[in-house]
Amino acid sequence: MIPVTKPYLPSLEEYNLYLQSIWKRQWLTNNGPLVNELEIKVNEYLNTKYFLYLGNGTIALQIALKALKVSGEIITTPFSYVATTSAIVWENCKPVFVDIHPDTFNIDPDKIEKAITSNTTAILATHVYGIPCDLEKIEQIAQKHNLKVIYDAAHCFGVRVNKKSIFEFGDISTVSFHATKLFHTIEGGGVFTKDNALFREMTLNRNFGHDGPEVFSGLGINGKNSEFHAAMGLVNLRKIDEIIAKRKSLTEHYNYRLKDLNLQRPKIKYGIDYNYGYYPILFDSHDMMKKCLEKLNRSQVFPRRYFYPSLDTLPYVKKANVPICDDISQRVLCLPLYYELSFEEVDLICRIMHTAFN
Ligand SMILES: *Cc1c(COP(=O)(O)O)cnc(C)c1O
Repeated sequence: MIPVTKPYLPSLEEYNLYLQSIWKRQWLTNNGPLVNELEIKVNEYLNTKYFLYLGNGTIALQIALKALKVSGEIITTPFSYVATTSAIVWENCKPVFVDIHPDTFNIDPDKIEKAITSNTTAILATHVYGIPCDLEKIEQIAQKHNLKVIYDAAHCFGVRVNKKSIFEFGDISTVSFHATKLFHTIEGGGVFTKDNALFREMTLNRNFGHDGPEVFSGLGINGKNSEFHAAMGLVNLRKIDEIIAKRKSLTEHYNYRLKDLNLQRPKIKYGIDYNYGYYPILFDSHDMMKKCLEKLNRSQVFPRRYFYPSLDTLPYVKKANVPICDDISQRVLCLPLYYELSFEEVDLICRIMHTAFN
């Protein structure tokens, strides 16, 4: 069986050393030393300013929205994982969907301004597959209309734009360290910001608003993560360059094997250091995508329709007019890509793809 992704599992011996240290300290959670170490090491590795390690990438979105005090309407993308939209609704705001650009599958900045009303307070955009949004245009629009910008950068660990971490953009960027993501801590996630006041606010939000054992500064939630999860992150972080390098060579192998097929790929602009988080392909029709998917499934290969359906079709939001997203989500597939995947398995997948096209 070849799934779309397999979580990376590090050496058990290395993980065990951390477990022994946890047993010695008997400090399991609540901002422990391994959580602190992970935060420091993540900032060092990415060259970012403030990072707060959280329970998952969804609570990261919710804490970001809360800390920025957004309300009313939030402009967002219909082409993302469900958490991008559900976090907005969970915070009692209204998602306003703006269609995506066919080149990048990210929110189309030229369509944002038309969607802005007097109730708009923020833009929440996803860098889909780790491919950056049009950062400059979004920044310009946000400044002009006095809007907050949150990037759902769940897929983006290690991505750089002109040598700067993508997490440095927007008021807040959120990340997911879920087991299915490129860099993971089993469950986990976090927020990045360059603003000290926001960082401090989110530190309080993460821990019930506790400012000392008997003082509560404002509203909080439980966004914490444990020493066990942080330990997994510390072990995996040592391997991250190797993981990205392997994914890069698998991606190049796919590119080579599939070059004769009528497939499109989202475009990555010059100046981007990509993390090879996903291998999305766009077929020229829904039927062709289905045909390929069925053939692959029959051979026990399980790509995923990332992302389908368009998020504006969720039962708790208003349907929007997003024809490009509707169309792309009907034709897109992400092929298996993970550290343990072999070149022979890529060959097999590509051979099956070729038979579907013949
Ligand atoms: C995975 C993901 C999330 C949610 O992250 P969790 O850690 O699973 O809560 C949010 N947004 C996007 C785009 C994702 O892919």
